Amino acid sequence: MPLSSPLKKGSQDPFVKILQSQLIALGYILPRFGADGSLGDETLRAYGEFMVLEGMRAATDEMPKAISVAGAAAIERAFAAIPPIAKDEKFFDERNNHPHDGRSKSMPYRTWSKVTAIVLHQTATQLGEKPARWHSVPIHFGVTRAGKTIQLYDLTEVCNHAGNFNRWTVGIEIDGWFAGIEGDPETLWQPKPPAAKRTPMDLPAVQAEAAKACVKRIIDTVAVNGGKITRIHPHRQSSIERQSDPGSLIWQTVGLWAQQNFGLSDGGKNYKIDDGRTIPEAWDSRYVGNQY
Ligand SMILES: [Zn+2]
Repeated sequence: MPLSSPLKKGSQDPFVKILQSQLIALGYILPRFGADGSLGDETLRAYGEFMVLEGMRAATDEMPKAISVAGAAAIERAFAAIPPIAKDEKFFDERNNHPHDGRSKSMPYRTWSKVTAIVLHQTATQLGEKPARWHSVPIHFGVTRAGKTIQLYDLTEVCNHAGNFNRWTVGIEIDGWFAGIEGDPETLWQPKPPAAKRTPMDLPAVQAEAAKACVKRIIDTVAVNGGKITRIHPHRQSSIERQSDPGSLIWQTVGLWAQQNFGLSDGGKNYKIDDGRTIPEAWDSRYVGNQY
């Protein structure tokens, strides 16, 4: 049954939720409210962008205040025309599936030009392969041991993943527990109270490749939106408590790789913020004398 009259801002007509779901399926992100069945600015903004692409509205027009009958019909047509593409079974876009509690309260959003660096972490636990398990993790991306990439937040959202690094960084959480220094199990962080003592995990090739692809995805996405990623950091550089985060194995496999392949900087031999620690010589042979 087609829509018979326009949906005005504030409408909770059952059609609103259908159209929101269709906009999401068409790739329009509704990060704050998702398909909540209530017609607010977030949905109207996505609708406005859709109408521009459809040639039914000029980019310079002000934001629509209602969804027109013709506009709703265009969304339905576009939705029906989505080809049954083979889904990327390794990439999970979970942005619309959780309440975004990990977003900064004081500075929830930033512009693309403020997104300039990537921070690498190890989870120091095992969250596993189910995307829903990751919903409460306050970070942009998770990479599982089977090589799945899970996106939880928009890159323009500020997430609480790395202290004062948060404002300008995008975070990647790599699942597993890894030694601070590869080959030295004593540098593996142990949870308290100590259960059965852990031994360090390896970094499966599929996980390493997914983490690298995630770095590239971030660099490309920021570039497409007019910004530039220039740095990559270990969480360790912003917090004294994160000595082993993400550990030498991840840093050398992904962090040094990103520096060599994309010209990113880690800030240099003496770089750290707040009570963080510099990158040790054991992680990067350039930094002679830097202690673990
Ligand atoms: Zn961390």
